[in-house]
Amino acid sequence: MDELECPACGEDDRLLGRPCGDLIDVTCEACGQNWERNPNAIANCDRCDGDDMEGAVKAIVEKSRGSQLSIVATQVVYLCRSCDAAILASYRVGRSPLMPDQLPTE
Ligand SMILES: [Zn+2]
Ligand SMILES: [Zn+2]
Repeated sequence: MDELECPACGEDDRLLGRPCGDLIDVTCEACGQNWERNPNAIANCDRCDGDDMEGAVKAIVEKSRGSQLSIVATQVVYLCRSCDAAILASYRVGRSPLMPDQLPTE
């Protein structure tokens, strides 16, 4: 995984990297997404041990009044291009944040 692209919009050019300890704090100038990248240790896939990972934005949701779920923040997660191929394929279409596996309950 050498090429760096914005997990939120796919921009691969207008990205600003700023060292932040061992991490690189990256900001996308195209959409404003900000995330931290660890250049040494993007974990391999825990299922197939492959290293062909792709970043995606995942929503952090909170239950607000009633049963409405609202997105309070986003985080960048890395998905495996082979194990998570279906998720990534649908993610690339609209690039709307992925929903958490577990939604908050009461
Ligand atoms: Zn972007
Ligand atoms: Zn995998």
